[in-house]
Amino acid sequence: MITFDKVTKAYPDGTTAVNELDLECPSGKITALVGPSGCGKTTSLRMINRLIEPTSGTISLDGESTADMDPALLRRRIGYVIQHAGLFPHRTIVDNVATMPKLLGKTKKEARTRAMELLETVGLAANFADRYPWQLSGGQQQRVGVARALAADPAFMLMDEPFSAVDPVVRSQLQDEFLRLQKDIGKTIIIVTHDIDEALKLGDQVVVLRTGGILAQAATPLELLTEPADEFVADFVGRDRGYRSLGFSNLGGRVETVAEPVARLGDSASDARTRTTDDWLLVVDSANKPIGWVQPAKVVDRIRPGDVNLSGTVADAHGTMRALLDAALSAPSKRGVVVDGDGVLVGTVTAHAAVAAIESADLVAAEAMAR
Ligand code: ADP
Ligand code: MG
Repeated sequence: MITFDKVTKAYPDGTTAVNELDLECPSGKITALVGPSGCGKTTSLRMINRLIEPTSGTISLDGESTADMDPALLRRRIGYVIQHAGLFPHRTIVDNVATMPKLLGKTKKEARTRAMELLETVGLAANFADRYPWQLSGGQQQRVGVARALAADPAFMLMDEPFSAVDPVVRSQLQDEFLRLQKDIGKTIIIVTHDIDEALKLGDQVVVLRTGGILAQAATPLELLTEPADEFVADFVGRDRGYRSLGFSNLGGRVETVAEPVARLGDSASDARTRTTDDWLLVVDSANKPIGWVQPAKVVDRIRPGDVNLSGTVADAHGTMRALLDAALSAPSKRGVVVDGDGVLVGTVTAHAAVAAIESADLVAAEAMAR
């Protein structure tokens, strides 16, 4: 756990960057620190590893005040990832990652072995090891930055806008990889971002700061969306927050699916026409996994792959209300396909039924209360 107790940073020019901040960042969880530019996010982060010293107040790691620690030793306990990765330009990728293990007394060979493992962990193939940072894309450099931060196996990780400098597609990939990685490593992480969507996606806890380094709200993503503390938070989180909050509500059996008639590739057109009275018929593979939709009336002779409309997402039966609604709205039949954990068809749900379930259960509010 990382704890802020009335932490203030005032600069000599009179700027109060962080103002009496009280905050608890739970162990093994991701805390996302978000707010407009200049609201004190970086300052808050850098006070934890004492790259910046607080003017007053206490920051503790697992109950121990950092003020009493040797800054160099403190920094070895904390992985630090910054925007543009901050790699050493004249060292190879593997040497960049091996720096910390060497510092901790590992032999050159041991350090290299460890570095190679870490590069694999962050999804970089071995052939990147002997390249230089400039030979890598921005996204790849960020992965190296994460590998380097993990090198000393720190319990804590601080990340300052780690994904901000890469394009939206790569960014979304890096976020997904990062969440997968965290499932394995379970570090206590604080990630700084100015992007509320990133904060809501990554944070177990989301902390909104306002200008002047004042805490506006610390809550789960769903609470933030459904019960913003004030106008500032509501504005910052945005107007479509009702819809967004569905992304955090589990549908876990609350919406009943309807059995859906199915066909398979190669089935005859006449057979397909007898299966449904509707325009659209669902096509599944031999394992009952959905492939897409066909219009029996338009099938000539037999159902061929070219007949299948592949648009429409599928929703996991244990997934979110938002995924379900997306599935219903994106299917040409307007029936959302629901599958189990193995991708096998469970049934379908109409958008109408999904919305009715959301309304009748007042799902969003109920979920928020439960947390
Ligand atoms: P953020 O990371 O949220 O964009 P920062 O923590 O970098 O914000 O900065 C918070 C505030 O402190 C800003 O108003 C910034 O201009 C100010 N600030 C940062 N460093 C200094 C400094 N060395 N001297 C004076 N003001 C500073
Ligand atoms: Mg910053």
